[in-house]
Amino acid sequence: MAAIDVALRGLTDRALLELTRAGDRSAIEAWRTGYLGRSGALSLHMRSIGQLPSEERPAAGQAANAAKDTLEAAFAARQRELEEQALDQRLESEHIDVTLPGRPIHTGGLHPITHTLRRILEIFRDMGFQVAEGPEVELDWYNFQALNIPPEHPARDMWDTFYVKPPSILLRTHTSPMQARIMERTRPPVRVVVPGRCYRYEGQDASHEWMFYQVEGLAVDKGLTMADLKGVLVAFARRIFWPEIQTRFRCDYFPFVEPGVEMSVQCPLCRGEGCRVCKTTGWIELLGAGMVHPRVLRNVGYDPDVVNGFAFGMGAERIAMVKHGVDDIRSFYGNDLRFLQQFT
Ligand SMILES: [Zn+2]
Repeated sequence: MAAIDVALRGLTDRALLELTRAGDRSAIEAWRTGYLGRSGALSLHMRSIGQLPSEERPAAGQAANAAKDTLEAAFAARQRELEEQALDQRLESEHIDVTLPGRPIHTGGLHPITHTLRRILEIFRDMGFQVAEGPEVELDWYNFQALNIPPEHPARDMWDTFYVKPPSILLRTHTSPMQARIMERTRPPVRVVVPGRCYRYEGQDASHEWMFYQVEGLAVDKGLTMADLKGVLVAFARRIFWPEIQTRFRCDYFPFVEPGVEMSVQCPLCRGEGCRVCKTTGWIELLGAGMVHPRVLRNVGYDPDVVNGFAFGMGAERIAMVKHGVDDIRSFYGNDLRFLQQFT
């Protein structure tokens, strides 16, 4: 066998072996340049044929062309093989198991106190009350003095107060300051409810929080009586609890009303039989109320000889606790989702 044939056979064998080892696209491209490219091994071989004696050239040329066909076919086959491998890998890695359960979609929900506030306001709106809101940082004048609680008045002990800037700027201890704010800018008749946060400087326990929501109510008109106050509050209790619920009014003291009352309702948990929540009395104190004190009316420029009114204030948490049988007010603000999600 002529030397040139031996060289071609060696080149072809080496090329085919290297091609099987080329494992990716860039490797086989390098292989192609190395053998079939313009300065590749096979091209150099072909160029060397020109130096052979003329009678040997045709056979050597034919052999070289056949080798070129072989390498090109082998390249095409290897390229296909690698593409198939890559596709298989992709199908494997992007495999989706359609039988797996879907990921749950987390949705938010309203806080139980938000639900309760909306329900309370809805009931009073139906009775013709407007809704107003006021500042949480309040002046001593509106929080106390306008409500017939001058400085040093012993009744101030009823509200332990956070002062922002003593003695005149504080965090409101109730929503009642809005009574004076609303009457100052409105001529009678007034019918308004005021929801909002209140703050008290006191220890937390099952029935006390330092922050809570109140809903204040105020009606001022000519000729309002205790009967109007009772009618509104009984109608409210019947709607927020159930239509036959029993209510009870007893005397109570708040400096800004005269007379003052507290309203109790039949315990919704035991329906009056007596249980742990109502401390076996069958009754639960729900809210404070009364006829607006003449001095409060005078403080905002109303004439108590011409108009009078009634006011009431209730804790939203208290309503929610009674309605849902929650026995610890701290549950509402403990951020325990297991508790909160029961209400959404
Ligand atoms: Zn009870």
